Amino acid sequence: MKCRVCRGQAVIDIRRHNAAFCREHFFEHVQSQVKRSIKTFGMLAPDDKILVAVSGGKDSLALWDILLSLDYKADGLYIGLGIGEYSNFSQEKAEVFATSRGAHLHVVNMKDSYGYDIPQGAVSARRAPCGTCGLSKRYVMNQQACKAGYEVIATGHNLDDEVATLFGNVLHWNLDALSRQRPVLPTEHGFVKKIKPLVRLGEREMAAYCVLRGIDYIVEECPMSEGNTGIRYKEALNEIENASPGTKHQFFFGFLDRGLDHFSEQAGVSAPELKSCSNCGASTTGEICAFCRLRQMATDPERVTVGSPSFRPRRRH
Ligand code: SF4
Ligand SMILES: [Zn+2]
Ligand SMILES: [Zn+2]
Repeated sequence: MKCRVCRGQAVIDIRRHNAAFCREHFFEHVQSQVKRSIKTFGMLAPDDKILVAVSGGKDSLALWDILLSLDYKADGLYIGLGIGEYSNFSQEKAEVFATSRGAHLHVVNMKDSYGYDIPQGAVSARRAPCGTCGLSKRYVMNQQACKAGYEVIATGHNLDDEVATLFGNVLHWNLDALSRQRPVLPTEHGFVKKIKPLVRLGEREMAAYCVLRGIDYIVEECPMSEGNTGIRYKEALNEIENASPGTKHQFFFGFLDRGLDHFSEQAGVSAPELKSCSNCGASTTGEICAFCRLRQMATDPERVTVGSPSFRPRRRH
């Protein structure tokens, strides 16, 4: 296996690109894919102050490393979810990385700052752990970014993540989610701009990047991920990709080119009026936002405010 660029010994082959790379040219490949996403989707200006959502996993640590190596001003945010040893280890990985790069890491502990952790919140709200976790992380990321004056939140969603989400949204014709599935969500209604610079890179590439760059990340799956449908979708999609390399890329980027505008227009026509949450001021379609309601259920279930059961803090397009 020879490097496509220098014909030296390759360390990784990427079948959807029909290419293999040596260590040095693999790093160039990863950087060029990220630069291409940043440029194509207008993700960043050179001086933007970026907050990277860091979980201690391969994608978020690789993303932080890539943004720093491209000379962006990027700090990290680690959210302590309270998921036992898993959270302790993942926090450690994030802290070790930050120290090794001389980078600044904010640490917010859900229990200390918001009065509940994910296992407790999921039981109290009778929601799936991943739903509780996702809602909590989105809210906390945005609040911390606003508080500390960051212009952009960057998350480590890679091509495999985006394709699995798209697949699930299509299977269930989740029109609202389809209208929002884009690599950049702009600043609006009190939400900080959100970007996904790894959308052109797969899970395997990110793992290889970390290994070759000496980035120590948490390999273990979150113990609360059992029953997570995204993992099953990824397995099914991997089979399809193995048989036909490039299918994931075509599915996702084909959707962005040919499907997204259609769903966005539909969502724009039917979007309900946004109000301010009466508790925290965040944009919401109900009286009180989904996060405040979850927090009330987790910390003070006797005094849950009555409101629309279907609301969630979300953007409208
Ligand atoms: S698997 Fe679910 S509960 Fe665990 S960190 Fe991910 S979203 Fe949160
Ligand atoms: Zn090479
Ligand atoms: Zn609220």
